[in-house]
Amino acid sequence: MTEPQDSPRRPFDIKEALARVEAAVRPYPRAALFELAESGYRSPFQVAVACIISTRTLDEVTLTVARRLFAWAATPAQVVGLSPTEVEALIKGCAFATTKAGQIRTLAERALFELGGDLPCDEQALRSLPGIGPKCASLVLGIACGQPRVAVDTHVHRVVRRWGYVSARTPEETMRALEARVPIRYWLDLNRLLVPFGKHICRPGIARCSICPLTDMCARVGVTSGA
Ligand code: SF4
Repeated sequence: MTEPQDSPRRPFDIKEALARVEAAVRPYPRAALFELAESGYRSPFQVAVACIISTRTLDEVTLTVARRLFAWAATPAQVVGLSPTEVEALIKGCAFATTKAGQIRTLAERALFELGGDLPCDEQALRSLPGIGPKCASLVLGIACGQPRVAVDTHVHRVVRRWGYVSARTPEETMRALEARVPIRYWLDLNRLLVPFGKHICRPGIARCSICPLTDMCARVGVTSGA
């Protein structure tokens, strides 16, 4: 990783940065899970299922696949009414559809028969479910349960490291670093805003620094070329 070529001109201000990012990503599609929540798919089960579908899958595909599944079966009881093969056919197009179909079916069975009809707003219980790691658990708790949570995917991890705001090596370390540094009221915004920002502006590979509103704050850690 290279050091920044120029020193940032002003101290990094997370409140100001997120306000600028919010304006910058307005023309772009929202992150898939937030878009689905806007459409009404915001129960713990639905957010968990959408998050499983989204793993290693483009947001555009996640939206199409999740909407197709939810049109047929949007509740644990409805998913249990489908065979694993039928769930797989409905989520065809996302990565690892066979594995994910099994995970989704298991989530539905656990929710329906063990957990009172939906998934609980409880991190430990969520993390015990197949396909639910730290990021998906945080998104369920944040979007569906209204709890302040930091959810770190590859975009969030890359962007905050380029800013020079955290220097953690893994998404889990970045999550802890952000929890320690970012005011709690912005925790869920980090994922909501930095996923589209990372997809369209601070992209993997060549960052689009020439159109970025954060050039006066960003340390551009590891950025060797920008568009
Ligand atoms: S696009 Fe460039 S200036 Fe903007 S956040 Fe990314 S690295 Fe920093």
